[in-house]
Parts: sequence; structure tokens; C-alpha cells
Amino acid sequence: MKKVAFYTLGCKLNYSETSTISRMFEEKGYRKVDFTDTPDIFIINTCSVTENADKKCHKIVREARGISPEAYVAIIGCYAQLKPKEIAEIPGVDAVLGAAEKFRLVELLDGFVRAPQPQVLASEISEATRFNTSYSLHDRTRTFLKVQDGCDYSCSFCTIPLARGNSRSDSIQNIIETARGIAATGVREVVITGVNTGDFGLQNGQRVERFIDLIKNLDNVEGIDRFRISSIEPNLLTDEIIEFVATSRKFVPHFHIPLQSGSNKVLKLMRRRYQRELYAERVARIKSLMPHCCIGVDVIVGFPGETQEDFLETYKFLNELDISYLHVFTYSERENTLAATMPNVVPGNVRADRSKMLHILSDKKRRKFYEENLGSTATVLFENDVENGMMHGFTPNYVRVTAKYDPLLINELKSLQLISINEKGTVEVMEPETVLVTG
Ligand code: SF4
Repeated sequence: MKKVAFYTLGCKLNYSETSTISRMFEEKGYRKVDFTDTPDIFIINTCSVTENADKKCHKIVREARGISPEAYVAIIGCYAQLKPKEIAEIPGVDAVLGAAEKFRLVELLDGFVRAPQPQVLASEISEATRFNTSYSLHDRTRTFLKVQDGCDYSCSFCTIPLARGNSRSDSIQNIIETARGIAATGVREVVITGVNTGDFGLQNGQRVERFIDLIKNLDNVEGIDRFRISSIEPNLLTDEIIEFVATSRKFVPHFHIPLQSGSNKVLKLMRRRYQRELYAERVARIKSLMPHCCIGVDVIVGFPGETQEDFLETYKFLNELDISYLHVFTYSERENTLAATMPNVVPGNVRADRSKMLHILSDKKRRKFYEENLGSTATVLFENDVENGMMHGFTPNYVRVTAKYDPLLINELKSLQLISINEKGTVEVMEPETVLVTG
């Protein structure tokens, strides 16, 4: 029985796809092992957004070769689609597969026999038109379920449309069946994932279904306790979706909404499809219906043309907005994007300073959000991680909770009172046995 190991870089989508590909190997009789367990085959799933993607790829291939000098090494993922030839030149790589080929890996690389020259199987991205159902399993308490792939937007900084192709989706019927299968494995929480999740519903270029209908149907799947929407563009986050989440049985009060900049001038340069006013209005709408809803924000600093005034406009906008945390990205040039050709490049040290300011703001926002939740009782889903005798879990509205490690709590929902914020910034709870479980 050949042993196969996986290494994943990047986003939730990559994790869900690696997980699905690993199950394909297992179905064919391969044994999945840890990266260091002298595998016969290494599959490295790369990301184009990762900083220094090429260096990371080199490093992982080197490590793989060090562990099993004779193993077969295949590279898949966004970076493999964007730079197949360069990757094939990395010493020790046996195969590179593009977006249209990665799910056929087991059949295409039949037997995984090393050849003198690396194989490059990467079609043009326009060939990636198929939707491949993917979800992560057993890696975490939460499962990431991919419902949509690719993107038809053209944000000027983004390579994802080049790496993943056009927007396409699974059908609601298929997603419901997949979710039922996931429920049968004991998973309690499913995170609905996509490249542009709110654009759900395109099949073969035709809009045939709607995101709102998907979430309404998922709400009725027995066995899953929670659904979380991973991220949704503000222009696609309709009143209907917000109102549904506010009243739904299982969709938790948590939205992650990319903003990218609080300056309308920069948003235009980024080719985003909204202005700051729409974003503020979406946040206000959510908060009017769900005062304790968690709202996370993606923001990019140091985009070409972002002056100090523009940045301060973003800072002030975020400071005044009722949001819960930020994911801060420092802009870095990506080949083949419009942004990389734009003038008024922001110096690296200025980008770093701006990032630091927003990280501090994020900590402040998170702390304030956590403080607003203290004293309340919330259902916590505990995860399978131990750190110095402590374990962690999340409330529906994404407050990170810490409690004394108890293996019986893993993957369990417990109703607990949130009492204080510790020095690590997580919330401590009343001991389970001293609290009434409210169901
Ligand atoms: S919406 Fe914009 S940033 Fe997001 S994947 Fe599409 S092009 Fe990239």
C-alpha cells in the first residue's frame, strides 16, 4: 500500500480541496500519512496569494525530498496554474497539474512512477469549467464545504480569476446531499465556502440558482447544528440574506465582509463594485437586526495611489464602524494584474506602518466586541486542540472561548456563561458543571 502525504498552503478552499483529493487516494487504496512519515507520494497544494509562493514551494519540495528522496512529488493549486513551467523547473518536482486537472490527479499520474523529466498537465484556465464538490473532513471540528468556485469580477489586485477561472457553482440539490453526508460523520458546524460565495448560482455560465435559496435549504438539513458563511461581498449581501440569517435556526450571526479600503478613490482604483456608503449601510442593517452579530472585515493597505489621507480615511471609517475584527493584508504586487502597473507605488515601510496601525485597531475592535458579550450565556462548540492544558471553542457569533481541557468536550456544544477576557485576549467561561445547560 503506497503512502501519500499532503501539504496545503492558502485558503479554506484549498483545505477543502486537499481533503477531497486525499479521500480520492484512500478510495484507490493509498494510505494517507503525515508529511514526515516517509511517504511514497507528496501532493503539495499551492496558493498564489501566499507571500513568496515560489520560495515556499521550493522549500517544501526540498523538505519532501529530504524525508523521502525517491518519492513522487506533485504540485497542484493556484500557483501551479499560474506558473506551471517555473514550478516544473524546481529540482525534485515530478508533476505539475493545473486547475482543470487537479481532481483527476490519481488517474492522470497513473501509478506515480518517476520519469526523467517532470510532467506538466496544466490547460488554459478557460478549460476549468467543471465544478468539483469538495469539503474538508476530520481535520477540524468545522467542515469547510465549497459551494462555489472561480470569480467573474476583475478586482485590479487579484490573480484568483486567472488561477481558478470563471464563477461556477454546485447545485443546491447536490450541496444538500453532501451536507447530509457530512452530518452523518458527526460534524456539528459547516462553513459555506467559495471564491465569491455570494455569486453562487452560475452553472455553465447561466444563473440558475440563488444564494438565498441555498441557505434556506441548508437550514433544514438535520444533524448539522451550525452553518457559517465564510465571506461575502458587500454588494451581494442583500437585505433578504441578512433578514434570513437573523431569523434562521442554524445560520449563525457572523458575517465576514471584504471592504479592502474605506476610501472611495482607492475602491475605484481596485475596481471594487461598491462604495464605502454601501458598506456602512450593510453593517448598520445587520446590527439593527442582530446587535450581537460578529462582523469581520478584510482590508488592504498600501495599494498603489493610497495617500496618507486616503489611508486615514480608511482608518477613521473602520474606527467608527460597528465591526468586530479586521483581517489586514499588506498590498504586494502580483504579476499579470492591473494594479502592478499602476503609478504612485507606496514604499514598503509605509505599507508596514499602515498595517501595524490597523492591527492595533483590530485588537481594539475585537476586545470591545468581546466585552459587549461578557455576562451573556452562549453555546460554545469546542475544538480538538490543547494548549497548556486548555482547549478552545467558538460561540455562534465567533467569540473565542477558552476552558480547561476535557476530552469529553471536543466537538460538543455547551451552554456557558462568558465571564472575563484573559491576558491572551480569549474569553473565559464559567465551569460547565456550575452552569445550567439550556439546550
Ligand atoms: S471578488 Fe475580487 S478579490 Fe475576490 S476573488 Fe473575485 S476578483 Fe478576486
